[in-house]
Amino acid sequence: MLYSVTLIPREEVLSEWTTMRIGGVTEHFYEPLSPEDVCLLLAHFRSEGVKPFVLGGGSKVVIKDGVFTRPVISMRSLCNVKFDGETVFAAAGVMLPNLIKMCVERGLGGIEVLCGIPATVGGAVVMNAGTKCGSFGDFVSAVEFANGDKLFTKRRDELVFSYRRGPVQGGEVVVGVWLNLKTSSPQTLMERMHKILKERVTTQPMNKPSAGCVFKNPSPHHSAGYLIERVGLKGYRVGGAQFSSKHANFIINTGNATFKDVLELIETARKRVKKVFGVELQTEMRLIS
Ligand SMILES: Cc1cc2nc3c(=O)[nH]c(=O)nc-3n(C[C@H](O)[C@H](O)[C@H](O)COP(=O)(O)OP(=O)(O)OC[C@H]3O[C@@H](n4cnc5c(N)ncnc54)[C@H](O)[C@@H]3O)c2cc1C
Repeated sequence: MLYSVTLIPREEVLSEWTTMRIGGVTEHFYEPLSPEDVCLLLAHFRSEGVKPFVLGGGSKVVIKDGVFTRPVISMRSLCNVKFDGETVFAAAGVMLPNLIKMCVERGLGGIEVLCGIPATVGGAVVMNAGTKCGSFGDFVSAVEFANGDKLFTKRRDELVFSYRRGPVQGGEVVVGVWLNLKTSSPQTLMERMHKILKERVTTQPMNKPSAGCVFKNPSPHHSAGYLIERVGLKGYRVGGAQFSSKHANFIINTGNATFKDVLELIETARKRVKKVFGVELQTEMRLIS
C-alpha cells in the first residue's frame, strides 16, 4: 500500500513523453519527487511482483502502442542541481541540455561536448550517452542509486562505462549523479558548443521526432548509417516511419508512425545488412513492450 500523495498514479499518453512521439496509454504513471519515493515505489512493485518501466527523457525509447500495462516511473521531477567548485551534483531528472547550459554559464567545462543530446542525467548514465568527442561516463565521479531496499552510492572506481552502456544492469534506478568538471572560460565553452550544435543540425534530423541512432556502430571504421545507406535503405519508409534521408541511422516519425512500423524497418535493415555485409547490427534504441 502506498501512502504518499506524490505516489498516486495517473493516466498519461506515453507518446507525449517520448521524442519519437510513439507510445500508448498507461493508467499507472508515477512521478516521484524524491529518491526516497523512488525507493518506496520499487519496494511496492517488488512486493506486487511487477516490473516497472523507468522513464527519463524518453529520447532512446520506442514504446508500444495501445494499452501499456507496466507501471511507469517518470524521473523528470527529480531535478535539483548543486555546484561546489568543479564538482556538480545533478538529480536524475535534470535535462542534460539545461545542465550543460548552467555549467557553461559558470565556466565549468567538459560536458559541453554532449550538447544537443536530449537526455535526462539518469538516462545519460544508463546509456553512457556520448559522441566522438566524449561520453557522459568520462565526467562521472559517483552515481546515487535506489533499489527496493535502500539508497546507495557507487564511486567511479566501482562503475563500469563502455560504448553506449552504463553501470545499470540489475533493475536499480539512478537517482543522482556527481560530476567532475574543469574550470574554463564561458566564452570558449559557448563557442565550442555552438560549433558542435551547428554540425549536428547539418548532419542529423534534429528537428524531426526520433530516438537518436537506431543501431550501435559495428566498428569505428563502419558506421551503421553507412551500412544502411549502402544497402539502399536511406529514406526507406514503412507506414509513418522512415530511415532519415539526412542520416540513415535515424528513424524519424513522419507523423503517424507506429511501434510496428519501426520494428519492421529495424528488421529490414538487419536482414539486408547481414545479407550484404555479413554484419549483425545491434539496436541502440530501446524497444519497450
Ligand atoms: C535528436 C536526438 C539526438 C541524439 N543524439 C545522441 C548522441 O549524440 N549520443 C547519444 O549517446 N545518444 C543520443 N541520443 C539518444 C538519447 O538522447 C540518449 O541515449 C540518452 O542517454 C537517453 O536518455 P533519456 O533520459 O532520454 O532516457 P530514456 O530514453 O528515457 O531511457 C533510456 C533507457 O534508460 C532507462 N532509464 C532512464 N532513466 C533511468 C534512471 N534514472 N534509472 C534507471 N534507468 C533509467 C530507461 O528505462 C531506458 O531503458 C539522441 C536522441 C535524439 C532524439
